[in-house]
Amino acid sequence: MSELTLPITIEGLGSPITIKADAEGAFGYFDETTGEIGVRAEADELEKHCIIVHEFLHLTASTLKQAGAITRQPDEAFIVNAATQLTVLLAKAGMLAHVSPADVDVMLPELS
Ligand SMILES: [Zn+2]
Repeated sequence: MSELTLPITIEGLGSPITIKADAEGAFGYFDETTGEIGVRAEADELEKHCIIVHEFLHLTASTLKQAGAITRQPDEAFIVNAATQLTVLLAKAGMLAHVSPADVDVMLPELS
């Protein structure tokens, strides 16, 4: 398993989003005021991907709510489950550069 190199800055949903490895206390965060997503530096690669997808889902939900497309944010349990399932799906499909399908089998045998 190779390592994800952070920080990364992308243009996301109309403004720059910077992903950093500086989360402390929580697994990750999304700061709407700065467009920053943070992940724990010591998280393993699968966890980092899962946290980034999780925070992107919060970002997407906020954008949809601001646009009036949804009336309330999905609850945290939905975000956690969706992020985990999307990350495992992408990894098992071989679509993540830093987490292979075999890595998922070892790390999350219950989801393989
Ligand atoms: Zn969350």
